[in-house]
Amino acid sequence: MKVEMEDVDDSTLCDSVSSLVEGCRLPVHMKGTSDWPLAEIVSIKDLDGLKVYYVHYVDFNKRLDEWVTEQSLDTRKVHFPRKDAAPGTGVSTPKKVQIGSGISNSGQVSRPASPVSTNSELLNGNAVLAAALQKKINRKRKGPSLEGEDSQDGPPSQQSAATGGPRQSGSMVSHHDDIVTRMKNIEMIEIGPHRVRPWYFAPYPQEMVHLACIYICEFCLKYRKSRKCLERHLIKCNLRHPPGNEIYRKDNISFFEIDGRKNKVYAQNLCLLAKLFLDHKTLYYDTDPFLFYVMTVFDHRGFHIVGYFSKEKESTEDYNVACILTLPPYQRKGYGKLLIEFSYELSKFEGKTGSPEKPLSDLGLLSYRSYWAQTILEILLSAKPIGENEKAQITINEICELTSIKKEDVISTLQNLNLINYYKGQYIITLSKEIIQQHYKAMETRQIRIDSKALHWTPKDWGKRAKW
Ligand SMILES: [Zn+2]
Repeated sequence: MKVEMEDVDDSTLCDSVSSLVEGCRLPVHMKGTSDWPLAEIVSIKDLDGLKVYYVHYVDFNKRLDEWVTEQSLDTRKVHFPRKDAAPGTGVSTPKKVQIGSGISNSGQVSRPASPVSTNSELLNGNAVLAAALQKKINRKRKGPSLEGEDSQDGPPSQQSAATGGPRQSGSMVSHHDDIVTRMKNIEMIEIGPHRVRPWYFAPYPQEMVHLACIYICEFCLKYRKSRKCLERHLIKCNLRHPPGNEIYRKDNISFFEIDGRKNKVYAQNLCLLAKLFLDHKTLYYDTDPFLFYVMTVFDHRGFHIVGYFSKEKESTEDYNVACILTLPPYQRKGYGKLLIEFSYELSKFEGKTGSPEKPLSDLGLLSYRSYWAQTILEILLSAKPIGENEKAQITINEICELTSIKKEDVISTLQNLNLINYYKGQYIITLSKEIIQQHYKAMETRQIRIDSKALHWTPKDWGKRAKW
Protein backbone atom coordinates (compact mmCIF):
# COMPACT_ATOMS: atom_id res chain seq x y z
CA MET A 1 0.00 0.00 0.00
CA LYS A 2 1.37 3.38 -0.91
CA VAL A 3 -0.22 6.59 0.27
CA GLU A 4 0.89 9.91 -1.09
CA MET A 5 0.91 12.71 1.46
CA GLU A 6 -0.05 16.13 0.25
CA ASP A 7 2.53 18.24 2.05
CA VAL A 8 5.41 15.80 2.22
CA ASP A 9 5.60 14.53 -1.32
CA ASP A 10 8.38 12.01 -0.91
CA SER A 11 7.20 10.40 2.29
CA THR A 12 5.38 7.16 2.23
CA LEU A 13 3.64 5.01 4.69
CA CYS A 14 5.41 1.72 4.58
CA ASP A 15 4.91 -1.36 6.64
CA SER A 16 7.66 -3.42 5.20
CA VAL A 17 11.34 -3.30 6.01
CA SER A 18 12.14 -4.82 2.64
CA SER A 19 11.59 -1.51 0.91
CA LEU A 20 14.16 0.28 3.06
CA VAL A 21 17.25 1.53 1.27
CA GLU A 22 20.29 3.54 2.25
CA GLY A 23 19.34 7.16 2.74
CA CYS A 24 15.88 6.41 4.15
CA ARG A 25 14.93 8.39 7.23
CA LEU A 26 12.68 7.07 9.93
CA PRO A 27 12.28 7.01 13.72
CA VAL A 28 14.73 4.56 15.30
CA HIS A 29 14.93 3.36 18.86
CA MET A 30 18.18 4.67 20.32
CA LYS A 31 19.91 2.00 22.41
CA GLY A 32 19.99 2.66 26.13
CA THR A 33 17.19 5.22 25.95
CA SER A 34 13.43 5.24 25.49
CA ASP A 35 13.74 7.73 22.63
CA TRP A 36 12.88 7.22 18.98
CA PRO A 37 14.68 10.08 17.23
CA LEU A 38 14.73 10.53 13.49
CA ALA A 39 17.62 8.62 11.93
CA GLU A 40 19.09 8.06 8.50
CA ILE A 41 20.03 4.61 7.28
CA VAL A 42 23.67 4.83 6.24
CA SER A 43 24.20 1.19 5.37
CA ILE A 44 22.35 -2.12 5.31
CA LYS A 45 24.00 -5.51 5.55
CA ASP A 46 23.02 -9.12 5.75
CA LEU A 47 24.34 -11.12 8.70
CA ASP A 48 23.48 -14.79 8.01
CA GLY A 49 20.00 -13.90 6.82
CA LEU A 50 19.47 -11.21 9.47
CA LYS A 51 19.38 -7.69 8.12
CA VAL A 52 21.13 -5.04 10.21
CA TYR A 53 21.04 -1.31 9.67
CA TYR A 54 23.72 1.27 10.39
CA VAL A 55 21.89 4.44 11.43
CA HIS A 56 22.85 8.04 12.05
CA TYR A 57 20.58 10.01 14.40
CA VAL A 58 19.98 13.21 12.47
CA ASP A 59 20.21 15.69 15.34
CA PHE A 60 22.92 13.92 17.29
CA ASN A 61 26.67 13.62 17.09
CA LYS A 62 27.98 10.81 14.90
CA ARG A 63 29.53 9.07 17.89
CA LEU A 64 26.02 7.77 18.69
CA ASP A 65 25.66 6.10 15.27
CA GLU A 66 25.04 2.37 15.64
CA TRP A 67 23.97 -0.93 14.12
CA VAL A 68 20.36 -1.82 14.87
CA THR A 69 18.02 -4.62 13.89
CA GLU A 70 14.58 -4.40 12.34
CA GLN A 71 12.93 -4.26 15.81
CA SER A 72 14.44 -0.81 16.38
CA LEU A 73 12.94 0.65 13.21
CA ASP A 74 9.58 2.41 13.11
CA THR A 75 8.61 1.61 9.54
CA ARG A 76 5.19 3.19 9.76
CA LYS A 77 6.60 6.45 8.51
CA VAL A 78 9.56 6.34 6.21
CA HIS A 79 11.03 9.26 4.35
CA PHE A 80 12.65 7.93 1.19
CA PRO A 81 15.69 9.65 -0.29
CA ARG A 82 15.03 11.89 -3.25
CA LYS A 83 16.31 10.38 -6.43
CA ASP A 84 17.90 13.64 -7.53
CA ALA A 85 19.66 14.28 -4.19
CA ALA A 86 23.40 14.10 -4.17
CA PRO A 87 24.63 11.12 -2.17
CA GLY A 88 25.79 11.75 1.35
CA THR A 89 24.31 15.21 1.65
CA GLY A 90 21.49 14.20 3.92
CA VAL A 91 23.30 14.66 7.20
CA SER A 92 24.25 18.27 6.82
CA THR A 93 20.89 19.46 5.58
CA PRO A 94 18.17 17.69 7.50
CA LYS A 95 14.72 18.25 6.10
CA LYS A 96 11.70 18.75 8.30
CA VAL A 97 9.78 15.54 8.39
CA GLN A 98 6.53 14.76 10.05
CA ILE A 99 6.87 11.63 12.03
CA GLY A 100 4.09 9.45 13.23
CA SER A 101 3.86 7.19 16.26
CA GLY A 102 4.05 9.73 19.02
CA ILE A 103 7.33 11.36 18.11
CA SER A 104 6.75 15.08 18.32
CA ASN A 105 9.11 16.65 15.84
CA SER A 106 12.46 15.99 14.29
CA GLY A 107 14.35 18.79 15.98
CA GLN A 108 13.07 18.47 19.50
CA VAL A 109 14.20 15.08 20.63
CA SER A 110 16.57 15.43 23.51
CA ARG A 111 18.62 12.75 25.15
CA PRO A 112 19.56 13.07 28.80
CA ALA A 113 22.92 11.45 28.30
CA SER A 114 24.00 13.92 25.64
CA PRO A 115 27.15 15.65 26.85
CA VAL A 116 26.12 18.93 25.24
CA SER A 117 22.77 19.29 26.93
CA THR A 118 23.94 18.27 30.38
CA ASN A 119 26.71 20.83 30.52
CA SER A 120 25.73 23.47 33.03
CA GLU A 121 28.70 25.78 33.07
CA LEU A 122 28.28 29.50 33.29
CA LEU A 123 28.06 30.00 29.59
CA ASN A 124 25.31 30.88 27.25
CA GLY A 125 24.86 30.74 23.54
CA ASN A 126 26.57 27.35 23.47
CA ALA A 127 23.76 25.70 21.62
CA VAL A 128 23.90 28.32 18.91
CA LEU A 129 27.65 28.08 18.66
CA ALA A 130 27.53 24.31 18.67
CA ALA A 131 25.00 24.36 15.86
CA ALA A 132 27.09 26.78 13.83
CA LEU A 133 30.10 24.62 14.45
CA GLN A 134 28.34 21.45 13.42
CA LYS A 135 27.73 23.12 10.08
CA LYS A 136 31.41 23.88 9.76
CA ILE A 137 32.36 20.36 10.76
CA ASN A 138 30.14 18.98 8.05
CA ARG A 139 32.04 20.93 5.45
CA LYS A 140 34.91 19.03 3.99
CA ARG A 141 38.32 19.92 5.31
CA LYS A 142 41.09 20.69 2.92
CA GLY A 143 44.36 18.86 2.81
CA PRO A 144 45.55 15.43 1.83
CA SER A 145 43.73 12.36 2.99
CA LEU A 146 45.24 9.77 5.21
CA GLU A 147 46.98 7.83 2.53
CA GLY A 148 49.01 4.93 3.82
CA GLU A 149 48.35 5.75 7.47
CA ASP A 150 47.89 2.05 7.94
CA SER A 151 51.56 1.17 7.98
CA GLN A 152 53.04 1.14 11.42
CA ASP A 153 56.43 -0.34 10.86
CA GLY A 154 57.75 1.69 8.00
CA PRO A 155 57.15 4.63 5.72
CA PRO A 156 53.60 4.67 4.30
CA SER A 157 54.63 4.43 0.67
CA GLN A 158 56.16 0.99 1.17
CA GLN A 159 53.08 -0.67 2.58
CA SER A 160 49.97 1.19 1.63
CA ALA A 161 49.25 -0.65 -1.58
CA ALA A 162 49.39 -4.06 0.06
CA THR A 163 47.21 -3.31 3.06
CA GLY A 164 44.38 -1.84 1.09
CA GLY A 165 42.81 0.78 3.32
CA PRO A 166 39.64 2.42 2.09
CA ARG A 167 41.21 5.73 1.18
CA GLN A 168 44.25 4.87 -0.86
CA SER A 169 43.98 7.31 -3.70
CA GLY A 170 44.04 10.45 -1.60
CA SER A 171 42.49 12.55 -4.31
CA MET A 172 38.93 11.76 -5.32
CA VAL A 173 36.70 10.23 -2.69
CA SER A 174 34.03 8.09 -4.24
CA HIS A 175 30.51 7.77 -2.91
CA HIS A 176 31.32 4.31 -1.63
CA ASP A 177 34.36 5.56 0.28
CA ASP A 178 32.27 8.34 1.73
CA ILE A 179 29.85 5.79 3.18
CA VAL A 180 32.72 3.67 4.45
CA THR A 181 34.34 6.58 6.26
CA ARG A 182 31.01 7.59 7.79
CA MET A 183 30.77 4.29 9.65
CA LYS A 184 32.63 3.13 12.71
CA ASN A 185 34.90 0.30 11.62
CA ILE A 186 36.64 -0.69 14.84
CA GLU A 187 34.64 -2.59 17.44
CA MET A 188 36.89 -2.11 20.44
CA ILE A 189 40.43 -1.16 21.37
CA GLU A 190 42.49 -2.21 24.34
CA ILE A 191 45.20 0.22 25.42
CA GLY A 192 47.02 -0.34 28.69
CA PRO A 193 44.38 -1.35 31.24
CA HIS A 194 41.56 0.30 29.30
CA ARG A 195 39.04 -1.19 26.91
CA VAL A 196 37.42 1.55 24.87
CA ARG A 197 34.67 1.52 22.25
CA PRO A 198 35.65 3.89 19.40
CA TRP A 199 33.40 6.76 18.31
CA TYR A 200 34.32 7.23 14.66
CA PHE A 201 35.94 5.70 11.62
CA ALA A 202 39.73 5.41 11.56
CA PRO A 203 41.72 4.10 8.58
CA TYR A 204 43.37 1.14 10.28
CA PRO A 205 44.43 -1.51 7.75
CA GLN A 206 41.78 -3.85 6.43
CA GLU A 207 42.99 -6.87 8.42
CA MET A 208 42.46 -4.97 11.69
CA VAL A 209 38.91 -3.94 10.86
CA HIS A 210 36.02 -6.00 12.24
CA LEU A 211 38.16 -7.85 14.76
CA ALA A 212 36.49 -8.06 18.15
CA CYS A 213 39.30 -5.91 19.54
CA ILE A 214 42.52 -4.21 18.50
CA TYR A 215 45.38 -4.31 21.01
CA ILE A 216 47.47 -1.17 21.22
CA CYS A 217 50.81 -0.76 22.99
CA GLU A 218 50.19 2.14 25.33
CA PHE A 219 53.79 3.38 25.04
CA CYS A 220 54.70 3.19 21.33
CA LEU A 221 51.05 3.03 20.08
CA LYS A 222 51.69 0.18 17.65
CA TYR A 223 48.64 -2.03 17.16
CA ARG A 224 48.28 -5.79 17.12
CA LYS A 225 45.55 -8.26 16.18
CA SER A 226 45.45 -10.20 19.42
CA ARG A 227 46.54 -10.05 23.00
CA LYS A 228 49.13 -12.76 22.26
CA CYS A 229 50.66 -10.64 19.52
CA LEU A 230 50.74 -7.64 21.84
CA GLU A 231 52.39 -9.68 24.59
CA ARG A 232 55.08 -10.73 22.13
CA HIS A 233 55.49 -7.06 21.21
CA LEU A 234 55.76 -5.92 24.82
CA ILE A 235 58.72 -8.25 25.40
CA LYS A 236 60.62 -6.41 22.66
CA CYS A 237 59.23 -2.91 23.24
CA ASN A 238 61.25 -1.16 25.88
CA LEU A 239 59.55 2.25 25.72
CA ARG A 240 57.91 3.27 28.99
CA HIS A 241 57.07 6.80 27.88
CA PRO A 242 56.33 8.59 24.62
CA PRO A 243 59.39 9.29 22.47
CA GLY A 244 60.75 12.84 22.32
CA ASN A 245 61.68 15.23 25.12
CA GLU A 246 59.96 15.45 28.44
CA ILE A 247 59.48 19.22 28.68
CA TYR A 248 57.20 19.39 31.72
CA ARG A 249 56.87 17.46 34.95
CA LYS A 250 54.84 18.30 38.04
CA ASP A 251 53.63 15.65 40.47
CA ASN A 252 52.61 12.71 38.28
CA ILE A 253 51.83 14.82 35.16
CA SER A 254 54.35 15.05 32.32
CA PHE A 255 54.34 16.47 28.82
CA PHE A 256 56.48 15.09 26.00
CA GLU A 257 57.25 17.04 22.83
CA ILE A 258 57.39 14.84 19.75
CA ASP A 259 58.59 16.03 16.37
CA GLY A 260 56.37 14.60 13.63
CA ARG A 261 59.36 14.33 11.32
CA LYS A 262 61.76 12.67 13.73
CA ASN A 263 59.21 10.25 15.20
CA LYS A 264 57.02 9.68 12.18
CA VAL A 265 55.75 6.21 13.02
CA TYR A 266 54.76 7.22 16.54
CA ALA A 267 53.11 10.41 15.26
CA GLN A 268 51.15 8.46 12.64
CA ASN A 269 49.99 5.88 15.14
CA LEU A 270 48.95 8.69 17.47
CA CYS A 271 46.91 10.30 14.67
CA LEU A 272 45.32 6.95 13.89
CA LEU A 273 44.38 6.36 17.53
CA ALA A 274 43.07 9.92 17.84
CA LYS A 275 40.94 9.56 14.71
CA LEU A 276 38.85 6.95 16.55
CA PHE A 277 37.61 9.78 18.76
CA LEU A 278 37.80 12.81 16.47
CA ASP A 279 35.31 13.32 13.68
CA HIS A 280 37.59 15.02 11.21
CA LYS A 281 37.08 14.43 7.55
CA THR A 282 40.76 13.95 6.87
CA LEU A 283 43.97 13.48 8.78
CA TYR A 284 47.42 14.61 7.85
CA TYR A 285 49.43 11.50 7.18
CA ASP A 286 52.26 13.89 6.55
CA THR A 287 53.17 14.54 10.16
CA ASP A 288 56.41 16.44 9.34
CA PRO A 289 54.99 19.96 9.81
CA PHE A 290 53.60 19.17 13.28
CA LEU A 291 54.76 18.90 16.85
CA PHE A 292 52.81 16.62 19.17
CA TYR A 293 52.47 17.34 22.88
CA VAL A 294 51.53 14.16 24.72
CA MET A 295 50.34 14.40 28.32
CA THR A 296 50.98 11.41 30.56
CA VAL A 297 50.33 10.30 34.12
CA PHE A 298 53.16 8.45 35.81
CA ASP A 299 53.06 5.34 37.97
CA HIS A 300 55.48 2.50 38.72
CA ARG A 301 54.84 0.94 35.29
CA GLY A 302 55.62 4.05 33.28
CA PHE A 303 54.19 7.20 31.72
CA HIS A 304 50.65 6.51 30.49
CA ILE A 305 49.13 8.58 27.70
CA VAL A 306 46.12 10.63 28.80
CA GLY A 307 45.72 12.93 25.82
CA TYR A 308 47.58 15.11 23.38
CA PHE A 309 47.42 18.07 21.09
CA SER A 310 49.23 18.71 17.83
CA LYS A 311 50.57 22.04 16.74
CA GLU A 312 51.93 23.30 13.45
CA LYS A 313 55.60 24.17 13.61
CA GLU A 314 54.73 27.31 11.71
CA SER A 315 51.21 28.67 11.65
CA THR A 316 50.37 31.60 9.43
CA GLU A 317 47.07 32.05 11.25
CA ASP A 318 48.32 32.00 14.85
CA TYR A 319 46.90 28.57 15.57
CA ASN A 320 48.42 27.13 18.71
CA VAL A 321 46.54 23.82 18.52
CA ALA A 322 45.64 21.72 15.46
CA CYS A 323 43.97 18.62 16.98
CA ILE A 324 43.32 18.06 20.66
CA LEU A 325 42.02 14.99 22.45
CA THR A 326 41.66 13.54 25.92
CA LEU A 327 41.32 9.76 25.64
CA PRO A 328 37.83 8.67 26.81
CA PRO A 329 38.97 6.85 30.01
CA TYR A 330 40.40 10.16 31.23
CA GLN A 331 37.57 12.47 30.17
CA ARG A 332 35.56 14.55 32.66
CA LYS A 333 38.46 14.63 35.10
CA GLY A 334 39.90 18.04 34.25
CA TYR A 335 42.61 16.75 31.89
CA GLY A 336 41.10 18.46 28.84
CA LYS A 337 41.42 21.86 30.52
CA LEU A 338 44.97 20.96 31.48
CA LEU A 339 45.85 20.26 27.84
CA ILE A 340 44.33 23.58 26.81
CA GLU A 341 46.09 25.42 29.64
CA PHE A 342 49.38 23.88 28.54
CA SER A 343 48.87 24.98 24.94
CA TYR A 344 48.44 28.58 26.13
CA GLU A 345 51.45 28.24 28.41
CA LEU A 346 53.53 27.42 25.32
CA SER A 347 52.09 30.49 23.58
CA LYS A 348 53.05 32.61 26.60
CA PHE A 349 56.62 31.31 26.31
CA GLU A 350 56.54 32.22 22.63
CA GLY A 351 55.27 35.67 23.53
CA LYS A 352 52.21 35.54 21.31
CA THR A 353 48.50 34.91 21.36
CA GLY A 354 47.03 31.79 19.81
CA SER A 355 43.77 30.05 19.03
CA PRO A 356 42.77 26.47 18.25
CA GLU A 357 42.27 25.49 14.63
CA LYS A 358 38.62 25.43 13.55
CA PRO A 359 36.37 23.58 13.44
CA LEU A 360 36.50 22.31 16.99
CA SER A 361 34.55 19.20 17.92
CA ASP A 362 31.40 19.72 19.98
CA LEU A 363 33.17 18.56 23.13
CA GLY A 364 36.28 20.57 22.27
CA LEU A 365 34.23 23.73 21.87
CA LEU A 366 32.65 23.25 25.30
CA SER A 367 36.05 22.78 26.92
CA TYR A 368 37.49 25.85 25.23
CA ARG A 369 34.50 28.07 26.04
CA SER A 370 34.72 27.01 29.65
CA TYR A 371 38.51 27.46 29.76
CA TRP A 372 38.31 30.95 28.24
CA ALA A 373 35.55 32.00 30.66
CA GLN A 374 37.43 30.74 33.72
CA THR A 375 40.76 32.21 32.64
CA ILE A 376 39.34 35.63 31.80
CA LEU A 377 37.23 35.79 34.98
CA GLU A 378 40.34 34.89 36.97
CA ILE A 379 42.13 37.89 35.42
CA LEU A 380 39.19 40.25 35.93
CA LEU A 381 38.78 39.26 39.58
CA SER A 382 42.46 39.79 40.26
CA ALA A 383 42.54 43.26 38.66
CA LYS A 384 43.26 45.91 41.29
CA PRO A 385 41.92 49.48 41.25
CA ILE A 386 44.58 52.14 40.78
CA GLY A 387 43.37 54.59 43.42
CA GLU A 388 40.90 54.57 46.28
CA ASN A 389 37.21 54.60 45.33
CA GLU A 390 38.23 53.76 41.80
CA LYS A 391 37.12 50.81 39.75
CA ALA A 392 39.75 48.41 38.43
CA GLN A 393 40.66 49.01 34.80
CA ILE A 394 41.96 46.60 32.23
CA THR A 395 42.05 46.65 28.45
CA ILE A 396 41.20 43.78 26.13
CA ASN A 397 44.80 43.85 24.91
CA GLU A 398 46.05 43.42 28.46
CA ILE A 399 43.81 40.39 28.91
CA CYS A 400 45.27 38.95 25.69
CA GLU A 401 48.83 39.57 26.85
CA LEU A 402 48.25 38.01 30.25
CA THR A 403 46.49 34.90 28.93
CA SER A 404 47.80 34.48 25.34
CA ILE A 405 44.15 34.05 24.34
CA LYS A 406 43.54 35.61 20.94
CA LYS A 407 41.58 38.88 20.92
CA GLU A 408 38.55 37.56 19.07
CA ASP A 409 38.21 34.71 21.60
CA VAL A 410 38.45 37.17 24.52
CA ILE A 411 35.74 39.35 23.01
CA SER A 412 33.41 36.48 22.17
CA THR A 413 33.83 35.10 25.69
CA LEU A 414 32.98 38.45 27.31
CA GLN A 415 29.95 38.67 25.05
CA ASN A 416 28.86 35.12 25.80
CA LEU A 417 29.10 35.80 29.51
CA ASN A 418 27.02 38.95 29.00
CA LEU A 419 29.57 40.99 30.93
CA ILE A 420 29.93 44.00 28.66
CA ASN A 421 27.71 47.02 29.27
CA TYR A 422 27.83 50.46 27.72
CA TYR A 423 27.52 53.18 30.33
CA LYS A 424 28.07 56.94 30.11
CA GLY A 425 30.14 56.74 26.96
CA GLN A 426 32.37 53.83 27.88
CA TYR A 427 32.33 50.07 28.05
CA ILE A 428 32.26 48.63 31.51
CA ILE A 429 32.43 45.06 32.69
CA THR A 430 30.00 44.20 35.43
CA LEU A 431 30.56 41.04 37.44
CA SER A 432 27.42 40.00 39.24
CA LYS A 433 27.56 38.12 42.54
CA GLU A 434 26.04 35.18 40.77
CA ILE A 435 28.77 35.05 38.12
CA ILE A 436 31.48 35.32 40.78
CA GLN A 437 29.94 32.55 42.88
CA GLN A 438 29.59 30.29 39.84
CA HIS A 439 33.18 31.01 38.93
CA TYR A 440 34.58 30.05 42.33
CA LYS A 441 32.47 26.93 42.36
CA ALA A 442 33.75 25.94 38.91
CA MET A 443 37.34 26.62 39.95
CA GLU A 444 37.02 24.24 42.91
CA THR A 445 36.79 21.39 40.40
CA ARG A 446 40.02 22.49 38.70
CA GLN A 447 42.41 20.96 41.16
CA ILE A 448 45.28 20.24 38.78
CA ARG A 449 46.84 23.28 37.13
CA ILE A 450 49.84 23.90 34.92
CA ASP A 451 52.81 25.30 36.82
CA SER A 452 54.90 27.44 34.47
CA LYS A 453 57.98 26.79 36.64
CA ALA A 454 57.79 23.10 35.73
CA LEU A 455 57.99 23.83 31.99
CA HIS A 456 61.50 23.58 30.59
CA TRP A 457 61.18 24.63 27.03
CA THR A 458 62.57 27.13 24.55
CA PRO A 459 60.50 27.92 21.46
CA LYS A 460 62.21 27.18 18.16
CA ASP A 461 61.92 29.51 15.22
CA TRP A 462 61.00 26.94 12.58
CA GLY A 463 60.83 29.61 9.89
CA LYS A 464 64.58 30.09 10.01
CA ARG A 465 65.24 26.48 9.14
CA ALA A 466 65.49 25.47 5.54
CA LYS A 467 63.63 22.25 6.18
CA TRP A 468 61.85 20.86 9.23
ZN1 LIG B 1 55.33 -0.76 22.13
